[in-house]
Amino acid sequence: MTNPLEDLIWAQIIQDGPMDIGRFMALALGHPEHGYYNSRDPFGRAGDFTTAPEISQVFGELIGAWVADIWAQMGRPDPFIWLECGPGRGSLMADALRATRRVPGFHAAARIVLMEMSPVLKERQRAALDGYNVQWVADLDDPLLRLSAQPLICVANEFLDALPIRQFVRHDSTWHERVVGVYDGALAFGLSPPVVAPCDATADGIYEVAPARNDFIRALCARLRVAGGAALLIDYGYARSGAGDTLQAVKAHQFAPVLADPGTADITAHVDFDAAARVAVAAGVRACGPAGQGDFLRALGIGVRAEMLKRQGATDIDEAVHRLTDDAAMGSLFKVMALCAGDDLQPAGVTS
Ligand code: SAH
Repeated sequence: MTNPLEDLIWAQIIQDGPMDIGRFMALALGHPEHGYYNSRDPFGRAGDFTTAPEISQVFGELIGAWVADIWAQMGRPDPFIWLECGPGRGSLMADALRATRRVPGFHAAARIVLMEMSPVLKERQRAALDGYNVQWVADLDDPLLRLSAQPLICVANEFLDALPIRQFVRHDSTWHERVVGVYDGALAFGLSPPVVAPCDATADGIYEVAPARNDFIRALCARLRVAGGAALLIDYGYARSGAGDTLQAVKAHQFAPVLADPGTADITAHVDFDAAARVAVAAGVRACGPAGQGDFLRALGIGVRAEMLKRQGATDIDEAVHRLTDDAAMGSLFKVMALCAGDDLQPAGVTS
């Protein structure tokens, strides 16, 4: 079967030469017509992967409690912008809103803004958040965010991992960029001619840089500095920068070859939280954590909440808590980092 996105990438490579991995990732995930997210709802058992908010309502409920707490610490600003980046099916926001409806003044103050590129998922979000006043933006540069002086609380779960990365290879002290070209009738990885070193690493290996992720964090921090607020960033990743190839594709809950059938598999890279924190600090914002997702959720009281749901008749809670918090599941690979404008905010579950 032919793949229109593969044809398009192929044609671009023939015309312009090999493309960097970031360009490939951006097309595979975000091509307006054939990109992975723009053409499907990828979540759940029948889809390609399952995220924390799709595992259990507890996840979004506890994030809601986190947002309400940081809002109280900020002095209960009214109005404030509650932004979620990459909201998927809208489950996290729906659970977070339901869990916080009794917090006095909180919902009345919240302007809910969703940053989403996929028309398919926007429809899912609209349905999940029926009854709430929700606005959508395509990026942080949208006038709704850029021109507003309202304080901001931002949540992003498994969003940073979808932003394009580039890879550089150090071999015998010489650096090359890892690129996508065509070889033997198929898309294939190759190496660019020697380039100047992208970082100060002194050991051979593959090093990832994430310009799009850095741009996002820089823009987010600029916004936080101007108007005040905090962001909660949750993703799989590592706490210390280092060598390693973390680019991966997942399809029907299995790893798939990254370059095969572009647009039909989720492509992600682990988040270098060390690098993300450096970008935030350089932009004048405090970076707290990262904490392991297990420790974070336990600090927020996942045990108590699970017991409550069980008493109300929920049956598969233990299994869900295990998946979300156990070190062998999502508990430590997934990490939580908070970005805070100013020294006063104490993000729950994430120590400085
Ligand atoms: N947070 C959700 C979904 C994670 S999947 C959950 O935990 O279930 C990644 C989400 O980010 C999807 O909604 C996808 O469409 C969106 N997304 C990916 N790249 C984006 C970009 N550059 N701009 C806006 N949204 C993006």
